Amino acid sequence: MLCEFDNATTVTKRVTKHHRLDGKWYVVENVEAQVCPECGERYYQAKTLDAIDAMLRGEHTVKRHLDVEVVSL
Ligand SMILES: [Zn+2]
Repeated sequence: MLCEFDNATTVTKRVTKHHRLDGKWYVVENVEAQVCPECGERYYQAKTLDAIDAMLRGEHTVKRHLDVEVVSL
């Protein structure tokens, strides 16, 4: 597909996505995305996002927990 910001052709990659669901944050590894080689913008298919939600709402294995700092500029 073409990036909506600069019309560069995106490439399919596996990325680590920060994902919010029902007020909680998750870090999801190995997510397929279309990534723009120019600006780095990521595009996800709706079916991929739905699959993440379904996986998180069901039984799933947690690889590890992270401490996250919340800061303000
Ligand atoms: Zn771009």
